[in-house]
Amino acid sequence: MTGTNKSWFDRAQAVIPGGVDSPVRSFRSVGGTPYTVVSGEGAYVVDVEGTRYLDFVQSYGASLLGHAHPEVVAVLRDAVAKGTTFGAPTPGEVLLAEAITGRVAGLEQIRLVSSGTEAVMSAVRLARGATGRDKIVKFDGCYHGHSDALLVAGGSGVAQMGLPGSAGVTAGAVGDTIVAPYNVVAPLDDTVAAVLVEPVACNMNLVAPTPGFLAGLRTECDRVGALLIFDEVITGFRLARGGAEEYFGVTPDLWCFGKVIGGGLPVGAFGGSRALLEHLAPLGPVYQAGTLSGNPLATAAGAKVLEIVGAEDYESLCERVASFATRLGEAVRSAGLYAQTPTQGPLLGLYLSREPFEAPTNFDEAKVLCENGLYRPFFHAMLERGVALAPGAYEILFVSLAHSDDDLSRTVELAVVAAKAAAAAS
Ligand SMILES: *Cc1c(COP(=O)(O)O)cnc(C)c1O
Repeated sequence: MTGTNKSWFDRAQAVIPGGVDSPVRSFRSVGGTPYTVVSGEGAYVVDVEGTRYLDFVQSYGASLLGHAHPEVVAVLRDAVAKGTTFGAPTPGEVLLAEAITGRVAGLEQIRLVSSGTEAVMSAVRLARGATGRDKIVKFDGCYHGHSDALLVAGGSGVAQMGLPGSAGVTAGAVGDTIVAPYNVVAPLDDTVAAVLVEPVACNMNLVAPTPGFLAGLRTECDRVGALLIFDEVITGFRLARGGAEEYFGVTPDLWCFGKVIGGGLPVGAFGGSRALLEHLAPLGPVYQAGTLSGNPLATAAGAKVLEIVGAEDYESLCERVASFATRLGEAVRSAGLYAQTPTQGPLLGLYLSREPFEAPTNFDEAKVLCENGLYRPFFHAMLERGVALAPGAYEILFVSLAHSDDDLSRTVELAVVAAKAAAAAS
């Protein structure tokens, strides 16, 4: 590939707003020019200048096996030659739906869509249609995609851009969305259709559910007849083989998936019991559809990923991330800063501070840490040394199954240097 990161980003900015198709990629919150990726292999990506980075972005969690896994590439080659979309049922969507429902107790049916945004938006519509109620409860700092009703207090990219929500969203669209602080079980009433939660909050850096939070939501939903929706777009098939339900022992009424289940292609899914899903068209009155839903390429890649990753892979990934988290925290502290590296399964957060602190339990606490200015120099010092973290303090680190022990140890060594650089920055 010819050209530099700068020349490609200049060209991008001429024809794409801000040069990006998703705002966090723009480097706005860390400054500088984004690297433009031409290829990826395993734990690594390569930019247009030929620079190779150890990649902890991993498409924000879409990639669990690492990039361009040979078996996924092989099924895609096979699928692409047979035609890529038909507008008719295909075996691939049945196989992926069986693979997903077969791994999660109580999840009887799913409908496939093309993104996490669509999955959550559709699940909320279904919850409203099934209960005949309007109100939705979401939690401050949780991201559920960019549909109008769910953009309020959205964490992640919304927080990085310093926006409370989004222009272009009417008061009416968010009028039925109630925002509560994470880790607080707010009392509900019988106007609430559903409580929507990230079982582990992964879009305000990492905020773990405190013991009893998810179970408390379950109890409170049952008390008033509201549905509990787990947004498992990140946690699904990453936290454990059966996702958050298996990990925390709490069963929602509706599940939303995305990222991992597409094997790197655009897929989302939402599901629950057969009785609930029967409210969807063509069986019921809740309309939902998609030209590319259940796309043959995406379902082939997603099913292959789920097939490859076994229970023992989750166990070993969790163990490796636990040790990496401890060493990463020690590395930062050895450079004179304070750090918290909270984990939940293989999900890993990173907070830096000049003062001693506890891992945050809600968005207000996370925000103070994410906005203290230390992440930016730390990020750039790592990037200069070939380690690509997410370009924003509100994101988590994604360790894939392709990250080797050497990759992780090298990252820990570089983190000492990067933390020194951050400590020295004003
Ligand atoms: C990424 C994400 C979404 C949105 O998924 P897209 O595929 O980007 O539309 C929804 N919920 C959570 C928890 C996410 O992390």
